[in-house]
Amino acid sequence: MSAGRTSPVSQLSQRAMDAAAAPIRFLMQPRDLEHPDACDFMAGNPQELALPEYVAALQAAIVPTSPAYFQYGPPPRRSVERAAEALGARLGLRLQPDDVFLTRGAASGLGTAMSTILDPGDEVIFLSPPWFFYETMIVARGAKAVRVPLTRPGFDVDVSAVQAAITARTRAMIVNTPNNPTGRVYTADNLRALAEVLTAASTRNGRPIYLLSDEAYARILFDGRRMITPGLFYQATFIIHTYSKTLLAPSQRLGYMALAPGMPEAESVRAHIWRNSMLGGGFPDTGMARALPALEDLIIDMPAIERRRDRVVDALRAMGYELNSPEGTFYVLVRSPIPDSGEFCARLAAQRVYALAGEAFEMPGWFRLSLTATDAMVDRSLPVFAAAIAEVGVPVVPAGT
Ligand code: PMP
Repeated sequence: MSAGRTSPVSQLSQRAMDAAAAPIRFLMQPRDLEHPDACDFMAGNPQELALPEYVAALQAAIVPTSPAYFQYGPPPRRSVERAAEALGARLGLRLQPDDVFLTRGAASGLGTAMSTILDPGDEVIFLSPPWFFYETMIVARGAKAVRVPLTRPGFDVDVSAVQAAITARTRAMIVNTPNNPTGRVYTADNLRALAEVLTAASTRNGRPIYLLSDEAYARILFDGRRMITPGLFYQATFIIHTYSKTLLAPSQRLGYMALAPGMPEAESVRAHIWRNSMLGGGFPDTGMARALPALEDLIIDMPAIERRRDRVVDALRAMGYELNSPEGTFYVLVRSPIPDSGEFCARLAAQRVYALAGEAFEMPGWFRLSLTATDAMVDRSLPVFAAAIAEVGVPVVPAGT
C-alpha cells in the first residue's frame, strides 16, 4: 500500500505498517478464547493468574508515601541501582547505574535505542527467522532492514553471512538470545566471532556498528543453561531486558536497557537516551518503576514450563511431527505436515487449538507453539494434533521409537 499526498498518515508510517502486515494478520485472526475448550498456543501470554507476590508488589508500590510520589521526573534511583546490580551479576558485567535506563519493556528499549542511533537511510541487520516486529520498528525510523538468515538446522548466527551483508551504511545489528522463535541460546564462540566481525567493520566504516542485544528471554532457560550476553565481547552493545517474560504479565510494562561497559562516547549516548526516554514515552510509570526492587527476585514457575516443553515435544514427535526443542524461550517450532502452514493452523483453529503460522515470522511451512498454554490446554490439544497429522497421511510412530 502507499501513502500519497492525501493520505492521513506519513509514508514512513505506511511503510512500517506494511512491514508489520504479516504478523498482525496472523496474530489477530479471530479466536474463540471464551470457549472453555480453547487451547491458546498463539503467543507468550499468561493463561493463569499472575504470581500473588507480583500483585502484592504492585499494590504496595502504587500507594504514595510522599506528595512528590507522582511528580514528573526520572525513575527512582533505588530502582535503577537495583536493576544495575541484578543485571550486572547475572550477565557477569560491571554495570554503573548511570548506564542503566528503565523502560516500558523490551519493545520500548529497542525503540528508544533505535531513535537514539538511527538516521533515515541507515541499514540495520536482523536475523531471520526474527521476532516479527523488528522490521517494522526499523522501517518506522526511515532505516533499511537488512535480513540475514540464521544457519540451518542449528539456528546459529551465520557470521560470514553477516560480514557479507555489512556496508558503509550499516549502523546497527539486532541479536536476540535466547531466540524467539528458534529457542536457540547462542554460544560464546558464536557471539565472539560476531563481535570480531563487527569490530573490524566498525573500524573500516569509521563509526561503530551498534549491537542491539534483545535479551527478553534472559531468564527463560532450560536444562540448567546460562545465557551469554554479546555485551561481554562487544562494547557498542545496548543490552535490552524486560519483565514481560520473567513475570508473564506483559501488559504491565517494565524493563531496562544497559549500555555495555566501554560504550563509545557513552556520555553523549546517555544524554540522548534520556531525552528520548523522557519525551518518547520510554520511561515506565512510577508504580512499575518503584516495584522493581521487589520484582527483581521473582520468576514464573520455570520447572513447570520445562516439564511442559518435554511433554509437548515428546508427544508431538511420537505423532510424527518434526520439531525443534527449545533451549530457552517459550516456543516450540513445529514443521507443518502440509506445505501451507497457514492452512494447517486454520485446521487446528477450527478445533479451537490456536498456533502461530510461520508466515508471521518468515518461516513458512512451520508453526510456533507457546508453552505458556496451560497443562489442561496441552491435554485437550494433543488428540487434535494427532488427528490433524493423521488426516494428511503422516504415519503415526509409536512413542519411544
Ligand atoms: N523481543 C522479543 C524477542 C520478544 O519475543 C518480545 C515479546 N514477544 C519482545 C521483544 C517485546 O517484549 P516486551 O513485551 O517486553 O516489549
